[in-house]
Amino acid sequence: MQKKWILVTGGSRGIGAALVQYLAREYDVVFTWKDQQSRAESLLNECRALSLNVSGYRCDGSKPTEVKALAQQLLTEYGAPFGIIHNAGITRDALHFKQDINDWETLIGTNLNAVFYWNQQLLPSMMEQGSGSIVMISSVSALKGNIGQVAYSASKAGMLGMARSLAREVARFNIRVNCVLPGLIETEMTTQMSDHEQKALKSNIPLRRLGRADEVAQATAYLIGEASSYMTGQSLVLDGGMSA
Ligand code: NDP
Repeated sequence: MQKKWILVTGGSRGIGAALVQYLAREYDVVFTWKDQQSRAESLLNECRALSLNVSGYRCDGSKPTEVKALAQQLLTEYGAPFGIIHNAGITRDALHFKQDINDWETLIGTNLNAVFYWNQQLLPSMMEQGSGSIVMISSVSALKGNIGQVAYSASKAGMLGMARSLAREVARFNIRVNCVLPGLIETEMTTQMSDHEQKALKSNIPLRRLGRADEVAQATAYLIGEASSYMTGQSLVLDGGMSA
């Protein structure tokens, strides 16, 4: 790696892919993915064509042994990261009383436990380095309830608490920890909705449109970099005014 490097978990598609492409202008970027190898490969090809220094690895963040193995490999190859963006996330919508226990555990494992596993592996090197920045991609669902999203909201609100306490723990090592809370962002999921469903969604958003992945990337770049150097333990909401 020639520049500072950052890790983006779940970077192969959606918001993660926008994060990888935007941040790779300034940093060397390593991203992870879990199931869809072809998506990871097409992102890598796009980045290569733009001469961006990006690498991708399969790693299930909910499995501490997989995280440990990849983290050790990355530390050996590239040294301490400058930043970590915890982006990998899933939904498993269901009414709370009907929620399948395995789905609950998979969601908490992917959205929350993975943050702990990666931090545990990479933070000591960042503390030794004496600088760094961590951003967690939470959600406006951390602030605003949604029927069927008890597990998702719990995981995303959990990130806010983690960020606040961790920010206090690592500030003396010059490491900052912040969260981005996107509202509804245009992704494959939302573009597949009918016009009627899209209209209903937009009617609840004061700016009358969904957000774009590149807008999440810009806000995340701000939080990861020098421009936000006096900001830690904070949450940046990006929801078109939905929670205002
Ligand atoms: P996508 O479903 O488009 O992409 C998810 C990414 O995470 C993929 O790269 C996927 O890899 C990876 N991933 C899934 N499970 C794991 C795992 N166990 N270990 C490692 N990687 C994994 O998600 P979005 O782009 O829509 O969302 C990204 C983040 O933003 C999530 O945390 C989400 O909660 C949050 N968010 C999204 C909003 C939206 O409107 N889209 C709104 C608010 C927050 P693979 O494809 O290989 O499985």
